[in-house]
Amino acid sequence: MSSLLKKSLTDLTVEDLMIPAEKVAHVQVGNPVEHALLVLVESGYSSVPVLDLDYKFKGTIAKTPILKSVMGMERFEMEKLAETKVEAVMQVEQPTLTMDTNFLTCLKVVINHAFACVVDEEGYFLGILTRRAILKEVNKSMYAQK
Ligand code: AMP
Repeated sequence: MSSLLKKSLTDLTVEDLMIPAEKVAHVQVGNPVEHALLVLVESGYSSVPVLDLDYKFKGTIAKTPILKSVMGMERFEMEKLAETKVEAVMQVEQPTLTMDTNFLTCLKVVINHAFACVVDEEGYFLGILTRRAILKEVNKSMYAQK
């Protein structure tokens, strides 16, 4: 953290700011959406990464699409939660970052996404970069200029 103080915003990269994979809640392809909903409710996050069995990034899954997938005409058909797989509901069109992505690129990505996944050149999941981490650095930098 102390090394971050010495870096200017434009020198920061994803590596300086990301949450590493071992601290990120995730679900796997093949899981029923019931499991994903449990992870989402328990963690308090509205969306988490979806990985395959090799730990490669595949997409993200959020509460609202899960609930929509079991919404009937008059009630939530909760029995469908166990039958529906994560891949039927996950969002696949998601931006990814690499460890060396620069701060300005990250800033642009988090305008439209609460977090973005960090992958290596083969697509293996390394962690996430959150909007909070970016805003914290912008805030720090603006106060330092006062
Ligand atoms: P934040 O900017 O900290 O509010 O995080 C933005 C979003 O990133 C959250 O709503 C979650 O979807 C995701 N997120 C943040 N931290 C984690 C984590 N440890 N595990 C999984 N997802 C996370």
